[in-house]
Amino acid sequence: MLGLTLKQASAALRDGSLSPVELCRRCLAWADETRRLNAYIILAPERAMSQAIESERRHRLGQPLGPLDGIPFAVKDNFSTKGIETTCASRMLQGYVPPFNATVVQRLLDQGAVLLGKTNLDEFGMGSGSTDSVFGPVRNPWGYSRSYRERHHLGDSGDGDDGEWLITGGSSGGSAAAVAARTCFFALGSDTGGSTRNPASRCGVVGLKPTYGLVSRHGLIPLVNSMDVPGVLASSTDDAATVLGVLGGVDPLDSTSAREAFRPFSLPHEGGVSGLHVGIPEEYHAPGLSADVLAAWSRAAELLEAGGARVERVSLPHTQHSIVCYHVLCTAEVASNMARFDGLQYGHRSTVDESTEAMYAATRHEGFNDVVRGRILAGNYFLLKQNYERYFVKAQRVRRLIARDFEAVFASGVRVLLTPTTLSDAPTHRDFCSEDNRTRSAQEDVFTQPVNMAGLPAVSVPVALSTRGLPLSLQLIGPAFSERELLSVAKWLEAASNFPSIDLPESFSTPVATADARGSKST
Ligand code: GLN
Repeated sequence: MLGLTLKQASAALRDGSLSPVELCRRCLAWADETRRLNAYIILAPERAMSQAIESERRHRLGQPLGPLDGIPFAVKDNFSTKGIETTCASRMLQGYVPPFNATVVQRLLDQGAVLLGKTNLDEFGMGSGSTDSVFGPVRNPWGYSRSYRERHHLGDSGDGDDGEWLITGGSSGGSAAAVAARTCFFALGSDTGGSTRNPASRCGVVGLKPTYGLVSRHGLIPLVNSMDVPGVLASSTDDAATVLGVLGGVDPLDSTSAREAFRPFSLPHEGGVSGLHVGIPEEYHAPGLSADVLAAWSRAAELLEAGGARVERVSLPHTQHSIVCYHVLCTAEVASNMARFDGLQYGHRSTVDESTEAMYAATRHEGFNDVVRGRILAGNYFLLKQNYERYFVKAQRVRRLIARDFEAVFASGVRVLLTPTTLSDAPTHRDFCSEDNRTRSAQEDVFTQPVNMAGLPAVSVPVALSTRGLPLSLQLIGPAFSERELLSVAKWLEAASNFPSIDLPESFSTPVATADARGSKST
């Protein structure tokens, strides 16, 4: 039941062979069974079950609300959910219960989708590993797949605290793990520099970052307002398109919402790529690109060519400056966004009460992790009167140049760019944490971040397994508001690649075997 795609589950719900209540119960049980992944911060079983009962009633009457009616989903814990704690994985917001739903959450609930719970992330979305959460890091389900464990001679239970387990990527790692482990049929992520595509890539699921403004940010707790977009993590490109159909479109509550008319679409069954003009940006042959990723990238280009596409090298000369500019722009926006967390209105409040200033300072010191505090400091530095022109204004100018590079390539007739999503497959926790958060983000976001600078849509599609037996994914980037064509090409690539499904054990909490293969890895 949980191995179905959203599309298949939706069809089964409609023809009555599957019950929304039973489906919800199974998802909740499996989410509980796989809790060592740490994908969820909070599950909301009672609410979910009552939503499922409502859905069952509608299905019985033959009146489902749409393709998502009765479909269980999860939401990254930086989207406001009415009546359900919303923490951004930070001590600062622990205990905060929003009085409203983010527009995207509301739209999904209005379509009868069943909200299972909130997923784990790097604190306030600042990171690319899902390792910097107050609730602890998220673990990659692929590290538990039978094939991976056999290949690496790991026992059934070996995932202790030795740091040898695999990270999910981030910052929407909880959402990616929740979908990859089949605890739900899709999940919401957010994407500011790659946070939906990066974990999708490491967890072998589809990750869609829509055009800036196409999907409402209302109720998404901001990281970088000028770049944030809600993202979709799903098991297939068809499923991502279905979810986008519900999320997309103008929202009066979001002042940056695009006025562009949006109509839900489904993807063609037998679409082709004949005559499609595909660009390969030469600057994306970045240092540190693994041989596996390079091979997958070349193979996909060959497949597209064999399918009749015209594949050509293109240049995005300013892309190389993207990460440095992002650091300035991100921290500047963080400095102002985080100012609202002062201990008065939301979440954590220090017991220090000598003065109002002392209370603010102590609250912020206790509430934020050092990554967040570091970014606030850096941002305030860049915004100082004497630095403003030199850093902030300059970064804005370069941002414009980065966006123009993309515009020029698309104006030349290129319809879609093909790039890797990440430099490598999922690293172990030990390897990943040998660098600090900022260095890691700089390495991790090279292929994904420029897209946010330019506000373009992009999708990450799993295409192959690496020599270590882990997912490898490629990214497709299109012009603004080209989601339909972009996802159609992604669907073609998905079909041509035939990525294998994950083979998880049936039991997670109890070790299956009595003795493990290496004798030292039991928890
Ligand atoms: N890794 C980037 C950062 O740390 C991007 C995160 C994101 O997209 N939310 O800011």
